[in-house]
Amino acid sequence: MRNISQSKAAFKQALERIPGGVNSPVRAFKSVGGDPLFIDKAKGATVWDIDGNSYTDFVASWGPMILGHARAEIVEAIQKAAERGTSYGAPTLLENEMAGLITSMVPSVDKVRMVNSGTEATMSALRLARGFTGRDKVLKFAGCFHGHADSFLIKAGSGALTLGLPDSPGVTKATAADTLTAEYNDLASVEALFEAHGQDIAAIIVEPVPGNMGVILPKPGFLEGLREITRQYGALLIFDEVISGFRVSSGGAQKRLGVMPDLTTMGKIIGGGLPVGAYGGRADIMDLLAPAGPVYQAGTLSGNPLAMAAGTEMLKILKNHPSIYEDLERKAARLEAGLREQLAKTGTPGVINRMGSMMTLFFTKAPQVTSFDEAMTSDTDRYARHFRQSLDKGLYIAPSQFECTFISDAHTNEDVDKLIHSMT
Ligand code: PMP
Repeated sequence: MRNISQSKAAFKQALERIPGGVNSPVRAFKSVGGDPLFIDKAKGATVWDIDGNSYTDFVASWGPMILGHARAEIVEAIQKAAERGTSYGAPTLLENEMAGLITSMVPSVDKVRMVNSGTEATMSALRLARGFTGRDKVLKFAGCFHGHADSFLIKAGSGALTLGLPDSPGVTKATAADTLTAEYNDLASVEALFEAHGQDIAAIIVEPVPGNMGVILPKPGFLEGLREITRQYGALLIFDEVISGFRVSSGGAQKRLGVMPDLTTMGKIIGGGLPVGAYGGRADIMDLLAPAGPVYQAGTLSGNPLAMAAGTEMLKILKNHPSIYEDLERKAARLEAGLREQLAKTGTPGVINRMGSMMTLFFTKAPQVTSFDEAMTSDTDRYARHFRQSLDKGLYIAPSQFECTFISDAHTNEDVDKLIHSMT
């Protein structure tokens, strides 16, 4: 058994001053049991806790660290930027470079606005969609997570789902009434809502490849159907690519799957591990934003030079080295195949969903997981056991069944094989 006495003491202390002891809920290990690890440092595919234990990391800070931790070029870019001052609240060339990189990589994005988190990105994109269409309602999918803005905490995924809080207290009835919820991969559920409320719906927001109820793959025609129906009713289609962006391809899910949204929200990878988000899309919609237009959105630290330095370096590496995505695919396919074999060998019922380097192993007897309801058939106690076994073997996977396992450029085949064989 590892000694985690210092993490235990730190958590006890944190509980006195920080609600639940953490600054983001799933970090507390509530659904898997045990005390959370306090991290001291990370490099490549490895994280170290404050007791000195090392773990091969498959959480990747919940997605951003696609190149592994403390990648030399990114660290250097941040250091150089820091020496020039950490914030000016005025335009910089780095922001132009970032906008150039994003618009050149994400096919549907003509113009982009930088913010400080994925939550800010989705919240602002929704306001923009409402401003553009003059309509109030938004349609989302059960189990999808779009950050913690009020409109999205209705049947929300991620930690809200893991902790049984999909409809948070504190969201007003009026806000909740403007959020309609359909079933992912079920076009009929979307059509029914449009038939009833079509003239009031400003936008559909969707994770094109959901990661927040575990990974679910879009059925052929589903995203195309959303595109069609939004066109038909004059609503906007927003792809929330905070996880899938720059992850499932260099241009996100839209490039990989060939379906173009009107607006795209981004985060995680574009910050290289610093706090950042972005939303972008058609120029005629984006130009409605202040100061070009009347829809207001602002930020003291938006386009922050440290975040831009880290993010532009990250995107340049991803753009200039397409082989990274081939390597990620190869390692992730190895993991998927190995885990399938291991499930069969151990007689464990399970379903594996994967796109590129994002993957979930659902411990379920269901033959497939293509929907929220099917994801909910998972045996979360069995997952918790898998989590604790992995941790004991020095492997850090998400402390929840309903999240992703991420492969990074820093993982080796040996790392992947260790995770395969941790499954007993
Ligand atoms: N959208 C999606 C798809 C996400 O996965 C997340 C966070 N996991 C968010 C939005 C919110 O991003 P942030 O945590 O940066 O606010």
